[in-house]
Amino acid sequence: MAKRKQKQPTYEEKGVRYMMCTCGSYVSVDETAVDVKCSHCVTMIMMNKYPHEEPKSYKPTGRPAGWHFMKEFVDKDGNVFHKGKEQPKLFGTLPSTKVQPKKKTKRRTKEQILIARHKKKKMALKKAKKLSKRKLKNKLIDEEKSNGVKR
Ligand SMILES: [Zn+2]
Repeated sequence: MAKRKQKQPTYEEKGVRYMMCTCGSYVSVDETAVDVKCSHCVTMIMMNKYPHEEPKSYKPTGRPAGWHFMKEFVDKDGNVFHKGKEQPKLFGTLPSTKVQPKKKTKRRTKEQILIARHKKKKMALKKAKKLSKRKLKNKLIDEEKSNGVKR
């Protein structure tokens, strides 16, 4: 196949090269790129070519986030992965890794946050008052002591 010549206009900004897609939108490319298709156009082409297939990126794997970082991960079909690398020899020999459902974090309302913050401030104030009282007491004792020396 003959090497295609660059035909789309490009420009550079902050060291990043951008090339215009046929649809007119710019996409960041590397220095060697001679042609570019923005993700939108790629999706359009894929849809035209394979109208019954969904783009791969939209297929949920059913695997938890970061599964390929796990020392060992077995998917529901019995495929075994060690740090994301498939281990065909171990296929079907291990029970599938249970995917823990994400824990729902309790969302506090803005009001609750404000109340909590207010309480915290109050506590801090109380503490500060107690501390200064004690300091005052100590100061008085010190003064009494030093007065006693003078006498
Ligand atoms: Zn495009």
